[in-house]
Amino acid sequence: MGSLPVRTLLILATAAVLSLAIATIVNAAVGWAVFSCVTLALLAHHLRRLGLLHRWLYRPGGSAVPECEGVWGDVFEALYRRDRDSAARERELALTLTRFRETVQAFPDGVIVLDAGNQIVWGNVAAERHFGISFSADAGQPITNMMRQPEFVAYLAAGEFAQRLKVRSPRGDALLSVTVIRYGESQKLLHSRDITQAERVEAVRRDFVANVSHELRTPLTVLVGFLETVRELKLEPSQRRDYLNMMEAQSRRMQRIVEDLLMLSTLESAPPAADDERIAVGRLLDRVRAETEALSAGRHRVTLEARGDFDLLGAETEIASAWSNLASNAVRYTPAGGEIRLIWDAASDGATFAVADTGIGIDHEHIPRLTERFYRVDRSRSRETGGTGLGLAIVKHVLTRHDATLEIESVPGAGSRFIAHFPARRLTPAHGISARVDGGAEIPEPPPTARETARAISS
Ligand code: ADP
Repeated sequence: MGSLPVRTLLILATAAVLSLAIATIVNAAVGWAVFSCVTLALLAHHLRRLGLLHRWLYRPGGSAVPECEGVWGDVFEALYRRDRDSAARERELALTLTRFRETVQAFPDGVIVLDAGNQIVWGNVAAERHFGISFSADAGQPITNMMRQPEFVAYLAAGEFAQRLKVRSPRGDALLSVTVIRYGESQKLLHSRDITQAERVEAVRRDFVANVSHELRTPLTVLVGFLETVRELKLEPSQRRDYLNMMEAQSRRMQRIVEDLLMLSTLESAPPAADDERIAVGRLLDRVRAETEALSAGRHRVTLEARGDFDLLGAETEIASAWSNLASNAVRYTPAGGEIRLIWDAASDGATFAVADTGIGIDHEHIPRLTERFYRVDRSRSRETGGTGLGLAIVKHVLTRHDATLEIESVPGAGSRFIAHFPARRLTPAHGISARVDGGAEIPEPPPTARETARAISS
């Protein structure tokens, strides 16, 4: 590639020599005329190439490089390469930018780029959700137009971002943890994280620790008081026995609380309940009924109704504990003379185990909170009857682990009904119900064909 227009210079030199020769042989005018013609032809040639270059540079959609020889060929070739390289770099840059944006968009945390005046430049979808903004509509607006909370405005103005700020989202539906990261000349990155769930979990944990401490502190204080009395005072043997009995009652209460807590923690950390272990429902119903009668000690009429020849699939100890909990609650919250019904109703599309009582009932407002740990409608009544406030929390955990749900219906003063709903996939055709039923259909041993049908439906 020649860097100088050598050919043009050669032509000019040749034309000059030729014109000089013509001027000498013919005359000067003809010599000049020949030289001028050659020079003009050269000028026209270069002007045409210049025009070509101009058109090519401003080509609308890009066209092929014009075929040229000599210095113009070199110029076109060099320009073409530069053009091609910069287009490739642009494509690469665009791809990097797209990938970067996609990565930032995929972030669960919110990110907003702010300029020196705290105006919104750009951000991701999580930030749109957190701050209730739309970048297409709100870019260029000061962020404080969207986030008007005084604590946020003050945080941004103070420019001290070592600590993160907890602030409610503009719609008030989320708690955000935000911070600002400075970068570049004077740009800022506003980083936000939704901590609603984490805060809720933290609040539950705090409440739980406070509740456990409170629940254990009361019997412990009583126990320590009794111990001091027994040690310090000279007591009659009968008085001493009374104190020891009361101490035992307090110790047992603490024991029950600790056992229930351990049960809850085991349920929480254990893998999902097995779905291939058969629970013989007939036998279990008999057991729950016997326990309920024993607990009631003849103060209530306890009946059992069973319909449907299905067994359950799951962990027997867990289901037994849940059903016994519901039945013992019915005994504890039903005055003497009342009725307690245990009802098992199974069909191919699901089953329910219900405990219905004619007890004190529960006000509507308490029902959604009954399965919270240590939630009681009447603390002293629960304590008097030996409650730990953890029974329904255990029931709910057990049911959840068996894909089941708990429904509570109650009319204050008239009674309550606690219903556990089991899905069809937790049922299997029974080997024959042995429960001593008082109501519902007695379940005969199903004929083989019916059993096959039931199995087909349940699987
Ligand atoms: P507790 O050990 O206090 O009975 P649970 O978790 O078993 O704890 O029950 C929570 C609360 O629900 C009880 O304190 C009681 O107020 C209410 N409750 C539960 N079962 C019944 C029921 N069958 N009738 C009326 N209230 C009930």
